[in-house]
Amino acid sequence: MATKRALLSVSDKTGIVEFAQELQARGWELLSTGGTFAALQAAGVSVTQVSDVTGFPEMMDGRVKTLHPAIHGGILARRGTAHMDELAAQSFGTIDLVCVNLYPFRETVARGAPDPEVIENIDIGGPAMIRSAAKNHEAVLILVDPADYALALQDEVSQADRRRLAAKAYGHTSGYDAAITAYLSGESDTIPTELPQTLDLHLTRVAQVRYGENPHQPGAIYRWGNARGPVIDAQVVAGKPMSFNNYADADAAWSLCQELAAQEQGAVCVAVKHANPCGVAVAENVATAWERARDADTLSVFGGVVAVSQPVDFAAAQSMKGTFLEVLIAPDVTPDAVEWFAAKKPDLRVLIAGQSEAVSVLDVRPLAGGFAVQERDRRPWDDLCPEVVTGRQPTEQEWDDLRFAWAVVKGARSNAVAICKGGVTVGLGAGAVSRIWAAERAVQNAGEGAQGAVLASEAFFPFDDVVRLAAAAGVTAILQPGGAKRDPEVIAACNELGISMVFTGSRHFRH
Ligand code: 5GP
Repeated sequence: MATKRALLSVSDKTGIVEFAQELQARGWELLSTGGTFAALQAAGVSVTQVSDVTGFPEMMDGRVKTLHPAIHGGILARRGTAHMDELAAQSFGTIDLVCVNLYPFRETVARGAPDPEVIENIDIGGPAMIRSAAKNHEAVLILVDPADYALALQDEVSQADRRRLAAKAYGHTSGYDAAITAYLSGESDTIPTELPQTLDLHLTRVAQVRYGENPHQPGAIYRWGNARGPVIDAQVVAGKPMSFNNYADADAAWSLCQELAAQEQGAVCVAVKHANPCGVAVAENVATAWERARDADTLSVFGGVVAVSQPVDFAAAQSMKGTFLEVLIAPDVTPDAVEWFAAKKPDLRVLIAGQSEAVSVLDVRPLAGGFAVQERDRRPWDDLCPEVVTGRQPTEQEWDDLRFAWAVVKGARSNAVAICKGGVTVGLGAGAVSRIWAAERAVQNAGEGAQGAVLASEAFFPFDDVVRLAAAAGVTAILQPGGAKRDPEVIAACNELGISMVFTGSRHFRH
């Protein structure tokens, strides 16, 4: 078999030496451009310069390096056809692997480089090679990401993988062009590099629902790429088929439940209505956690969606007897509990959560004609540096409740206020269009339960009104991000009323 040839030309040289060494050990012949050549040669890899293959030196400060028929012919020749004769007639060889990543255009823009430098960082030959190799992906491996180097070292790379690499390659070049377009049209001074310029939107329909949010709206559930999710991949072990709203609420309930389980000791129960928590509790076992979450708001939990952090056994199932629920999702449900649910609560959808190692880190909101995309708000409590800004310090119990309330309020729609005591929500106000209304709702909801409780808010207080309301209801400690113009007034009110206040410095809007 003829020796295989790889062309390596990378700006980001991460892992390239090791990769080249592995290719060499497998008998590949290596071609490379100036900087990559120098890096490989310095590491003792034997490599040929592209200029020796083309017979032309790199020109014009690197603007022209690989734009030559010896390179593009070697990549594009359709194997097993007359193209091979055309190649041979010119004494050109094939190129069977192209490993390229592009000039750091976005990074150059992001650091505020002057215009000529930005323009010089528009890569020309790199995208051309990527596009050539991706077009001929049946015969040529195209690598644009060091994460894929290992795949290329396998003895055989399947056609499916080759095609996937090609799709990724075109994603790489189209994202790159989008960044150039944005820069030249003055759309953005700095293009964020944290999120991709293009999203790989491979969607597959994974579940049927009868309709969307309302009966006149068609709906369906899709999987994003190869992602697996706890709700999308849950096993429905009893009850009716899941509805569109069930999916959405189960997802909200499960994600808050997991977040709390990661920071609290014991079993967590989260009851959700219309994407907002209505009762949340942590306790020594699932049955008790459920009972406390239910009793936090017996009215709202009717028709709720419940997530628990530990397996549901027969006793826990029995504790749910008197309440109408739509969905229960748990890491596991014992067979006798499933049997009991099926017999006694035939409408309740009982879900065993799916494995979710690869839950999407992106949070997508629909826009007419597109999406608004952001990274998920996954900041854990341990990431914060809470600061007590009042004379009074929170007690140990209040600290525990503040941490719990903080997670709850993060899982609710803005504006949100949670009043909590002893690992239970006693009052919740969520999705309110003003903060004081959220607080009023929570205080009213809590009633006598607010005595000695703590209060958390997902965003700062513009005025001291929430403090005064909370103090009158009996709240003793408050947590909020801080950062408002009137913080001094808010803190003064706390000091006057003998309340502790903690600033987290971290806002958690969820609109
Ligand atoms: P090196 O550091 O090896 O000298 O250059 C690697 C970079 O050059 C890669 O980012 C690759 O995309 C880019 N490149 C390769 N060929 C050409 C070309 O013909 N013109 C331009 N402008 N860039 C090229």
